[in-house]
Parts: sequence; structure tokens; C-alpha cells
Amino acid sequence: MDARRLACLDAMGIPAWSRRTDRILAGAPCPVLAPAGSADAPDETGAMGWEALEARVSACTRCALHAGRTRTVFGVGHRNADWLIIGEAPGAEEDRRGEPFVGRAGKLLDAMLAALGYERNQVYIANVVKCRPPENRDPRPEEAASCAPYLDRQIELLAPRVILAVGRVAAQRLLGSDSPVGRLRGRVHRYGATDIPLVVTWHPAYLLRRPEAKADAWRDLVLAAGAAVAGGT
Ligand code: URA
Repeated sequence: MDARRLACLDAMGIPAWSRRTDRILAGAPCPVLAPAGSADAPDETGAMGWEALEARVSACTRCALHAGRTRTVFGVGHRNADWLIIGEAPGAEEDRRGEPFVGRAGKLLDAMLAALGYERNQVYIANVVKCRPPENRDPRPEEAASCAPYLDRQIELLAPRVILAVGRVAAQRLLGSDSPVGRLRGRVHRYGATDIPLVVTWHPAYLLRRPEAKADAWRDLVLAAGAAVAGGT
């Protein structure tokens, strides 16, 4: 393990122990067929490519959040990535910069990814909603529903080998569940009717408040890495 990765593990408070990084990095491009879009997706969204979809999101007025945004936060990363990380919604810094997870929680997410051997630009990072909710409140169900066709299409275009849902909002939206993260984490789910493995973990903002949960998060990342390699088998 190189010194930088050791430093990342150290920053997360995680003891270095042996991992299957080589297997993780050896993953071939995703052969999994993409899921169908939401039933309520506007017809045109379900057929859009990346550029058209991003343009559509940046002009979106489907819910009230559009009125308070500085910029939409579409998503960032490699559009052929094996890993898709999904958070809940942009915060203040993300709203200013138009990029997900760039605040303190984002720095921790970067460290978690680096511990796995991934740079931010080797994965894809998106949120359940693309506009910042006021006062950083949780997105409302109708706001998540308005953005659902966009996230569904992103997942369809990306066809990742694994989805990592960080935090309650992403986990519940993607699994159609109302269970808390503590019950949803620690096992491999499947996304919708597809074979795409989905692993739930604590939100990095929660890990900043509860550093003792970082060991759980690391176990979840290792679980997700194994699921990415095993794929739909
Ligand atoms: N929290 C999230 O869930 N998403 C972001 O983009 C930033 C913080």
C-alpha cells in the first residue's frame, strides 16, 4: 500500500489492513443492462444523452427548489465509471460551485475513495436532488420525485458496477424504503429491477460528527468493492 493511501486511511481513523484493491481496479467495464427510467419520467428524458440531460437539468423548474438555486448540481466524474456515489442534495458550497461534495463532507468522501484507490474523477458522484434545499434541510419527497427522472437517467446512462448510497435520503429513495441507514447498511441490495449491486453507508457529514462510525463506513466500502467485482452474479 502506498504512502498516500496509508495517509488517507489514517485521516479516516482506520487501521491499514490488507484489501483486494488489485481485484477492485481490475474490474472490466460494466456489462449490466441499465434499468428502465421512472414511470413518471418525461418521455424525452428517458432518451437523452449526457449533454442533453445536463442542459435539461440546468433549465429545470419542475419543483420550487429552482427558485433558490445559484447553480444546478448535475453530477461529476467519469461517465464510464464502475462506481456511482449518490448523496442527498447540494449544500451551500456545492450550490456556489455547481459540483457535488466539495465541502467538508466532500473532502472526507474523497479520502474514503482514495483509501479504495480511486480519484474523484474515476468515479461518478451525483445527488438525489440537483438544487440546494434552503437552510440545508432534507429534500422533500415531492422534490426528490421531481428530480427522479434525472437521476434514473444518469444511472441508466452510467450502468455502474456498483452504487454507493450515502446517507438516509439516498438510501431510502433508491431502495423505496423507509428503514433507517443502520438497518439498510451492511448488506448488498439490488437497485430496482436490475442486477446492479447497491450498498448503503453513513453520510460523510454524519461521519464528521460521529468519527467512531468510520469503521462501519470502511466495512461498507469494502463490501461495495467486492460487489463491484462480483457484479450481478
Ligand atoms: N451532501 C450531499 O449529500 N451532497 C452534496 O453534494 C454535498 C453534501
